[in-house]
Amino acid sequence: MSESIFHLGTGPVHVSAEQIAERVKELGAQIAEDHPTGELHLICVLNGAFMFMADLVRAIDRPLTVDFLSVSSYGSRTESSGEVRLVKDLDQSLKDRQVVLVEDIVDTGLTMQYLLAYLKGRSPRSVRVATLLSKPSRRKVEVQVDYVGFTIPDAYVYGYGLDVDHRLRNLPFVTSQAT
Ligand code: 5GP
Repeated sequence: MSESIFHLGTGPVHVSAEQIAERVKELGAQIAEDHPTGELHLICVLNGAFMFMADLVRAIDRPLTVDFLSVSSYGSRTESSGEVRLVKDLDQSLKDRQVVLVEDIVDTGLTMQYLLAYLKGRSPRSVRVATLLSKPSRRKVEVQVDYVGFTIPDAYVYGYGLDVDHRLRNLPFVTSQAT
């Protein structure tokens, strides 16, 4: 796949199930290559990243464990306020583990900033961040993102785990177009 397809310039966003599948395979291979020794520990940020996580773990040909956390951010439906609250905590310790945090989308970066501070405070050996989507034009804070599926313009997107008002997560593609 050519590099340009990962940067969806302007206008409506549409990433097909085939494009997602191909890109997730590439990300999985990259993550495996970057962690050649030891076990990986993948942490899924619920709810939006559940589908990406399920596909990504199958694309990583390394021994790994998984855990899940959930955050809620105060604010309106489409605009996070930056005040993040942990709704479901991790079940396992992070001490000396090689962590990969798996997110659906990095928008303002405020959620990621909170999560990284939280995880790094739990003494992991390393923390890397994988996100299916990134909207760099919306950043309020610069945050570490190591693996990006697709860079998209400023548009509200849904499908492949991402919701509109808790719905449409089951669409196999990502889109910003009205259904
Ligand atoms: P941030 O803190 O980076 O502004 O927001 C991150 C969270 O906001 C994401 O994990 C996601 O839950 C939500 N979010 C941001 N942009 C979108 C979007 O375009 N579509 C959906 N469904 N959620 C989004």
